[in-house]
Amino acid sequence: MQNNINKSNRLNNLSYAIRGPVFEKAQQLEAMGQKIINLNIGNPAPFGFDVPDEIVHDMIMNIRNAQGYVHHLGIFAARKAIMHYTQQIGVRGVTIDDIFIGNGVSELIVMTMQALLNDGDEILIPSPDYPLWTTSVALSGGKPVHYICDEESDWNPDLDDIRRKITRKTKGIVVINPNNPTGAVYDKDILEGIIKIAAEHNLIVFADEIYDKILFDGAKHIPMASLSDDVFVMTYGGLSKNYRATGFRGGWVILSGATHRAKSFVEGFTLLASLRLCANVPAQYAIQTALGGYQSIDDLVAPTGRLCKQRDLVHYKMTDIPGITCVKPKGALYLFPKIDLRKFSFKDDEQFTYDLLCEQKVLVVSGTGFNYIKPDHFRIVFLASTEELETASGRIRNFLEHSRTR
Ligand code: PLP
Repeated sequence: MQNNINKSNRLNNLSYAIRGPVFEKAQQLEAMGQKIINLNIGNPAPFGFDVPDEIVHDMIMNIRNAQGYVHHLGIFAARKAIMHYTQQIGVRGVTIDDIFIGNGVSELIVMTMQALLNDGDEILIPSPDYPLWTTSVALSGGKPVHYICDEESDWNPDLDDIRRKITRKTKGIVVINPNNPTGAVYDKDILEGIIKIAAEHNLIVFADEIYDKILFDGAKHIPMASLSDDVFVMTYGGLSKNYRATGFRGGWVILSGATHRAKSFVEGFTLLASLRLCANVPAQYAIQTALGGYQSIDDLVAPTGRLCKQRDLVHYKMTDIPGITCVKPKGALYLFPKIDLRKFSFKDDEQFTYDLLCEQKVLVVSGTGFNYIKPDHFRIVFLASTEELETASGRIRNFLEHSRTR
């Protein structure tokens, strides 16, 4: 009798809804020849949001130079460009040694938690969150503890809830700003409040700022690391969203503030970086150009730009459906509408996303997939073409009308 080959216990209870069972169902339907409108993933390129030509040009020019392994922290020119970027955005005291390049922010998030956590260490993570944060904490033996972002207050983090959830085991706090999935761009007083809490309790701040240039309606992004020299802040950014280059796999993390407290952690983090030899090299050649030149993202997010117009369209269409409310996003690529479950026959967000897919061929992600506490939200990505977004919104409306009980 042969034993089954089982996954590690560490993977029990972990999932990734963005590519989870509903996504798999969509793949099956597509394989059967059905056309699905995919509003499930923040991947700009398939929807005609091309990487700026200048970036592609530089990658092509440098492809020969990118054949070999490079330094495990990243190539000099890219790290220097990131260092200059910190100076432009008001983050003080960052040296080239404080910058690490990775295969996207994703790899760096996982490496951070692996390098930092002992069993049972707690990390405060927003609810809703970008789920990799929760997963990577759990995978590293830590305990994800979710703090509330309050829909009634434009999805800003609830500082009292953060305070309530700090224990002797809390090591750090994750702040995603601009936020995925809510699209919130946080107010300065809230960010200062988080820094104050972090300073009082010796917490590390993990600032996921990968959408820092995708801002609407004149919203201003305030880098967490610009608010304090005393707190140890790790700021994550990359090519994927601002430069629409998700497939290039280029991201970075910047260490700032109380780096003197983090010597042992940095040693561990550097060890992990060296064990994986180096990050994808061609993408590293794009970083200097991306950060230095004129970037067409400004045109896309301006009131007349494609991204802004699409956000307006989907927000209007969703909030026009009785039983749906939605805080208008000020940044990133997502809306996070709320469903008044008392008015519809489906029981929760998961059934909603599954049935919507099967009946109307529109793929969105359930709010609980983002570790949101109540099963009554969904995330919709506004990257598809205007025509597709119009069609999808109409189908969501139809589905909800048919499911209406009152
Ligand atoms: N952080 C947030 C908030 C994201 O939304 C994403 C991707 O959607 C990532 C990190 C991962 O980005 P990358 O492509 O750099 O791995």
